[in-house]
Amino acid sequence: MQGFGPTIFAEMSALAARTGSLNLGQGFPDSDGPSSLLEDAVDAIRAGRNQYPPGSGEPELLAAVAEHQHRFHGLAVDPATEVLVTTGATEAVAASVLALCEPGDEVIVLEPAYDAYAAAIALAGGVQRSVPLRATATGFTVDADALRAAFSERTRLLLLNTPHNPTGAVLTAAELAVVAELAAAHDVVVVTDEVYEHLVYDGLRHLPIATLPGMAERTLTVSSAGKTFSVTGWKVGWLTGPADLVTAVRTVKQFVTFSGGAPFQPAVARALALPDAFFAELAGDHQRRRDLLCEGLRAAGFEVRVPAGSYFVVADPRPLGFDDGTQLCRRLPELAGVVGVPVSAFCTPGGEAAAEVRPLVRFTFCKRDAVLSEAVERLQRLR
Ligand code: GLN
Repeated sequence: MQGFGPTIFAEMSALAARTGSLNLGQGFPDSDGPSSLLEDAVDAIRAGRNQYPPGSGEPELLAAVAEHQHRFHGLAVDPATEVLVTTGATEAVAASVLALCEPGDEVIVLEPAYDAYAAAIALAGGVQRSVPLRATATGFTVDADALRAAFSERTRLLLLNTPHNPTGAVLTAAELAVVAELAAAHDVVVVTDEVYEHLVYDGLRHLPIATLPGMAERTLTVSSAGKTFSVTGWKVGWLTGPADLVTAVRTVKQFVTFSGGAPFQPAVARALALPDAFFAELAGDHQRRRDLLCEGLRAAGFEVRVPAGSYFVVADPRPLGFDDGTQLCRRLPELAGVVGVPVSAFCTPGGEAAAEVRPLVRFTFCKRDAVLSEAVERLQRLR
């Protein structure tokens, strides 16, 4: 792990705390999830569900995850063999990479990418092959030619993330079809991180790559209660996929954490069965906050690409005279009393993607309206 230091999120949250700045850096909500969920966890603790749950997860959560995959995505998943509960999506991704990637195997990653992917590949002794997403006027897209060129005989895995952190891109059916075709042609397993599956806006829908023809058998689909139910500290995640791949991941997972989150698991199981209105309201609420932040950032002088999903927006500060996002993020507390995260922190240092996104800053909008309004007001000081 040489070369890996404290994560950008730890660094920027510490900076926010030290300077008393508004923290639009690390992505965590500043209000709790549904009260029924919180009550259910308290009830589970009082009912004595405080010892190790089964290594695969509590049967009620396995069943709820399978039911959720069917209800929202039409995926048929066997709760007994095709679901694994994990300690957050982070463990699901890390255990998948450790299970399926041998030292020297290549893993394709679209950059910018969530920082845990490079770390998981390093832990496994794998070799990361980075493919930059292309920035367009409206968002970020998959460059099919660059992706095709990244495959080799050593390619073992492809790590996908949609809706995407940090860009907010929601991959289209056409983009996913290219990924699927290449994965099948090269007999590669896709690990797809879909933690923002319910945070998609403007009437768009999240499309899991596992739903594409021939993909269910070579895809591990990862999600987490942290994002959908605004309980990032509970660290209850899961993955679904074919039994042989899930078994391989379980083999690793049992020696990393064995199990976790006993009283949270039944609570999350019940929350996954909340009526459609809950999920629609979650997206509607975040869409409103997205618009509030995007408009405020524009008024403050940033150029903004309105994200189709996730709870992040990428802002370009060049119209304000700043061309280095890392430097700007270090100075933002003193300049405006706000904290963001440089997008280059999601890229291999010195790589092509890092150069492309060098000026950009990611802000999160998973905060109360009053916090977002105050933040954009403060950012007016940059003019
Ligand atoms: N996923 C969160 C983000 O992107 C941070 C999680 C973490 O701190 N590791 O902001």
